[in-house]
Amino acid sequence: MGEEITELEQKLKEAQNSVDSLLLEQLTEQNKEYKQIISKLEVKINQPYKTMSELKNEVKNPIKEQEKTFFCDNCQLTKTDILTKRKADCPFEPRLHGRMIYLCSSCLPYVKELSEVNFEKEDNPYKVN
Ligand SMILES: [Zn+2]
Repeated sequence: MGEEITELEQKLKEAQNSVDSLLLEQLTEQNKEYKQIISKLEVKINQPYKTMSELKNEVKNPIKEQEKTFFCDNCQLTKTDILTKRKADCPFEPRLHGRMIYLCSSCLPYVKELSEVNFEKEDNPYKVN
């Protein structure tokens, strides 16, 4: 009888062990899933803050990349301003007309962009025959 009991105890222990390891496996698997969900959530949570800090940074350091020192072809002055390159449409300024010129922001409203579609070579008063 005593031996049988020990054997039963042994089997019970083994069964307990396998149940434990199964549970542990399940828990580890669940843990993995939770960790993945958590890391996904963390990414989502961190994103708005990143954007916010980027925006704050932009406000602190406004982009000055557009400002350059250049020679404005229209007013013929050296300016530190926003440079606009434009194909000039100013038939009364043969010096500029049809050329790619540099414009400062003050001259910008006065010089139109030459649109290639409407440009008629034959109708050009400065046409050289
Ligand atoms: Zn100018």
